[in-house]
Amino acid sequence: PLSYRLKTIATYLSKGTKFIDIGSDHAYLPSYVCLNDPSAKAIAGEVNEGPFNSAKQTIKKYDLTGQIEVRLGDGLDVLRPNDSVYEVVIAGMGGTLIRRILENGQHKLRNITRIIAQPNIDERDTRIALTTLGYTIVHEQMIEENEHIYEIIVADLVTDDNQTKWTDKELFLGKILLSKRDDLLIKKWQSQLAAHRKIIQQMKQAKHLNQSKIRQFEKEQTWMEEVLA
Ligand code: SAM
Repeated sequence: PLSYRLKTIATYLSKGTKFIDIGSDHAYLPSYVCLNDPSAKAIAGEVNEGPFNSAKQTIKKYDLTGQIEVRLGDGLDVLRPNDSVYEVVIAGMGGTLIRRILENGQHKLRNITRIIAQPNIDERDTRIALTTLGYTIVHEQMIEENEHIYEIIVADLVTDDNQTKWTDKELFLGKILLSKRDDLLIKKWQSQLAAHRKIIQQMKQAKHLNQSKIRQFEKEQTWMEEVLA
């Protein structure tokens, strides 16, 4: 059975989609999608040999070789011009790595109408990448599984120019998440705030003060306090 996290991610793909799952590991997500939607097709991308082989095994096990192709390579490098892939999933890694993968592969994004990202941490970096690469964030959802709170961020290719710019606070916390004010939003930032306060204290006690970093952390602390107020 697929994790609730991956199932939720799958709900943001369109029916009959052709998508690439970057960092697919065992290819559980594309297998689930293609088993439930015979008109769907996928490419499972993996940079590491081990997960690449696991992905191939899963595809074979479920007899999905006609629907899913597994490719070894870094991020979007594995996409070829005639693939006609329209959606990208990039889940289960740090937001900074997601940002790097999207920026490095930006020339491959031209036909991509939707990117579904699920950063484990540093969500802000993922939001910055999406919004600077010509996408607009249309959905944000928090889910909890195995004591972890995850953020799913869905962005569509911008078709009009009148998108409003997100503020630093909105990029950090998620503008849509802020407007929803889910219980999980409060839960997440309550625990993050406690950790953040500790880090600031430690930074202030260090021999060499990094003033600009302290100021940045203090700004973030204020944003968290505003959410919880
Ligand atoms: N996407 C799955 C999920 O959400 O459950 C698997 C997440 S797993 C923790 C992260 C995977 O990303 C690993 O299998 C790793 O090999 C792969 N990965 C890391 N950097 C990558 C890159 N630059 N290109 C492709 N895959 C990458």
